[in-house]
Amino acid sequence: MVLSKTVSQSDVSVHSTFASRYVKHSLPRFKMGENSIPKEAAYQIINDELMLDGNPRLNLASFVTTWMEPECDKLVMASINKNYVDMDEYPVTTELQNRCVNIIAHLFNAPLEEEETAVGVGTVGSSEAIMLAGLAFKRKWQNKMKALGKPYDKPNIVTGANVQVCWEKFARYFEVELKEVKLQEGYYVMNPDKAVEMVDENTICVAAILGSTLNGEFEDVKRLNDLLVEKNKETGWDTPIHVDAASGGFIAPFLYPELEWDFRLPLVKSINVSGHKYGLVYAGIGWVVWRTKDDLPDELIFHINYLGTDQPTFTLNFSKGSSQIIAQYYQLIRLGYEGYRNIMENCQENAKVLKDGLEKTGKFTIVSKDEGVPLVAFSLKDHSRHNEFEISEMLRRFGWIVPAYTMPADAQHITVLRVVVREDFSRTLAERLVADIEKVLHELDTLPSRVTEKLKVEEEHHEVVKKTAIEVQKEITAAWRKMVADRKKTSAIC
Ligand SMILES: *Cc1c(COP(=O)(O)O)cnc(C)c1O
Repeated sequence: MVLSKTVSQSDVSVHSTFASRYVKHSLPRFKMGENSIPKEAAYQIINDELMLDGNPRLNLASFVTTWMEPECDKLVMASINKNYVDMDEYPVTTELQNRCVNIIAHLFNAPLEEEETAVGVGTVGSSEAIMLAGLAFKRKWQNKMKALGKPYDKPNIVTGANVQVCWEKFARYFEVELKEVKLQEGYYVMNPDKAVEMVDENTICVAAILGSTLNGEFEDVKRLNDLLVEKNKETGWDTPIHVDAASGGFIAPFLYPELEWDFRLPLVKSINVSGHKYGLVYAGIGWVVWRTKDDLPDELIFHINYLGTDQPTFTLNFSKGSSQIIAQYYQLIRLGYEGYRNIMENCQENAKVLKDGLEKTGKFTIVSKDEGVPLVAFSLKDHSRHNEFEISEMLRRFGWIVPAYTMPADAQHITVLRVVVREDFSRTLAERLVADIEKVLHELDTLPSRVTEKLKVEEEHHEVVKKTAIEVQKEITAAWRKMVADRKKTSAIC
C-alpha cells in the first residue's frame, strides 16, 4: 500500500505537450478517464513527468543498487512476468532462491555440514526480513514463558536509538516494546554495555546493527555477545542476538573477514541482509537466515507442496516478482568472492578519496569510520553562519542528492550530511563532488548568514532579547528540523 498525497488539490488534470498530437483534452488526475488513450500518448505523458525525478545514479542518499551489468538486466526483463509464488510452475526459480540462501548462510558462517541446506528466505528487503526474524524471536520467547507458567504479554526488544525505521515498525505492528539505548555526542551506535544492562526477562532479543544507517559504523557484536553470555549465565535466561546486517552483510565478509560479528558468535541466532544494497541487485530483495532449524519456530512455517516435495515458506507476502532473486543468483555466481571483494575495496577507496577531499577543505568533521560501510558522513565545524541543510540544498543545483539529517536521541543537536559510495560512484565522480562542495562553500561565504538575518528580523519585530550562541543554534536547528519533518525528509535516507 502506498499512502500518497498529490501535490496540489486544485491541479486536477495532467497536461501534455507532445502527446497533444494524440489527445485533445487534459487527463483527469483523480478519476479514471472516460476513454482510452493511445499507447504512445500514455508513454509520452508518463515519461515526460518522470524526467523531473532525481537521477538515481546521482542519488547519494541511498544504499540501494542503481547499476547492474546489461546481461543481468536481460535476465531481469526476461523474468519480469514470473510470479515467484508459483513454485510448482517455476521450480528452477525456487531452486535459485534456495541456492542463494545457502550461499549467504555459508558467507555468514552458519554451522552447516558440507551438504546441509540452510534455513532462510528471500524477502522484499531487510524490512520484511526483520519482521520475520522478530516474529520468530517473539514466538520462541512466548513459548518459553508459557512453558514456565510466566506472563508472556509484555515482550520487549533492545536496540540502539540509531536503528532504522523498520525496527520501529516491527515494534508497533507486532506489539513489542522497543527499548532504545540512547546515543551521545561522538558515539553514534549502540553501546553494548548499556544494551545488556537494559535486558530483562521479557527481552525477546537484542538487535545489533552491522553498518549503522546514520554513519555506516559497525556495532561491536562480539562484545555484545560476550557480555550477554555472562548475563545469561548469571540469570539463567537465554536472551539471543539478531544482527541487522542490511548494508554491512555484503561488506564485512569481503573487507574484514577476521571480524567476528556473525554465526561465529554463539548468541547470534538470525541475520538479515539487503540483497538490493551491497548485494548489488536493484530494489526489491532482502534475505534472512537463521542459525539452525531450531531457531525458527515450526508453527510460523507454512508448507506448500510442489512437485511432490515440501517447500516450506515463511514470508509476509504471497505474490511477488522473481527477477530480483534471479539477479541475486547472477551476482553471486558471476562475481564470486573475488568479484565482491574487488568491488567493496573499490568503494572503500573512493570513499577515502571523498573523505580526504572533504578534510582538506578544513571545514568538516568526519563522523563516519574508516572501518564500516563505505560512506562518508560529515558535519560542519562552524555553524555560526551556515548549516548542513543549506549545503544539501545547494548541491541539488549541481544534480547531487546528498541528504542532511539530525541524529536521534541524545545527539539531536548534531546534523550530518551523508554520501553513500556505491559501485557506480566512481573516483571521477568522487573528485567532482569534492569540487562542487568547494564551490558551494565558497558561495556560502559570500551569502549573508541565515543566522544573522534571522536575528536582525527578530530585533526589528520584537523587543531585543539577547540570546546566547547555544540558544541561537538550538532555535535554528529546531526550525530546520521542523522544515525537514514537514517535507518528510526522513524517508530520504534508506
Ligand atoms: C536499509 C536498512 C534497513 C531497511 O532495509 P530495506 O532493505 O530497505 O527494507 C534496515 N536496517 C538497516 C541498518 C538498513 O541500513
